[in-house]
Amino acid sequence: MSDTLPEDSALDIVVVSRSTDLGDNFEGRRALPSRQKRMVGPFVFLDHMGPHLFSPGSGLDVRPHPHIGLATVTYLFTGEILHRDSLGSVETIRPGDVNWMTAGSGIVHSERTAPQTRQHASSLAGLQCWVALPRAQEECAPDFRHTGVAELPVMEGEGVTARIIAGSYFGRRSPVATLSDLFYVDVQLQPGARLDIPPEYAEQALYLAEGSLDLDRDGSFDAGQLLVLKPGRSITLRAGLGGARLMLLGGEPMDGPRYLTWNFVSSSADRIEQAKEDWRQQRMGQVPDEPDYIPLPDLPGKPVHFP
Ligand code: MN
Repeated sequence: MSDTLPEDSALDIVVVSRSTDLGDNFEGRRALPSRQKRMVGPFVFLDHMGPHLFSPGSGLDVRPHPHIGLATVTYLFTGEILHRDSLGSVETIRPGDVNWMTAGSGIVHSERTAPQTRQHASSLAGLQCWVALPRAQEECAPDFRHTGVAELPVMEGEGVTARIIAGSYFGRRSPVATLSDLFYVDVQLQPGARLDIPPEYAEQALYLAEGSLDLDRDGSFDAGQLLVLKPGRSITLRAGLGGARLMLLGGEPMDGPRYLTWNFVSSSADRIEQAKEDWRQQRMGQVPDEPDYIPLPDLPGKPVHFP
């Protein structure tokens, strides 16, 4: 990796994601929030899950837990997750699909490996990010939308496949509804393939999920790194010998700072305290037929304040 970027670099910051335990030995990497960068456009959280191999009889079990003030965006590379929520939604997500869950005033969901998938060994890898909602819609009604892989537009170039998950990019627009001007794109590059990244949004970053990238003056980069671009700058990517898979993400700047505590995002610290108390008292709803839940953890100190 590049420790120091040249002064004329198109890159602003390089974040090295840190290992994080997503529960039950299910490991991941967290790129946002980080000390160097709190948010990119409305993206306030980016977790890269796995890759993880589950032995027969085991699987992912994220018990019911609440969210407010954000949308969770789930996108898989391999495997599948069964999503269930307090609206009554039950949906299996598979690679290339997108689950867009708008928490708004509050929702509760679980994410698990389905019983039939546990009968054999299975693998799981993918990303979950959170986007903050605009202030005017922070308390909107919760909503869950599943969009199948076949509905998402794909841009094909020489050695390049780019699926537009949300927003518009490379001249194509995703049908996934969002509450703010943002973009999210899954890019796969064959070894040595080149791709120009234009400055389409004020805040842009790329998360390198697999493989390596060479950027002319800035050096080479490895999986797990989040490259944040300077506003208005374009870059040309060249995939390394093993190819590359990366997520482009960002959007227009948020309409003000946000607080983040546990699973809650809000422009108001008081609102987060209210959500904590509501979850303590189990006033945020239930996933049907799932009485178990993740209790509110000890949350010392003040909420993290963004930006
Ligand atoms: Mn969640």
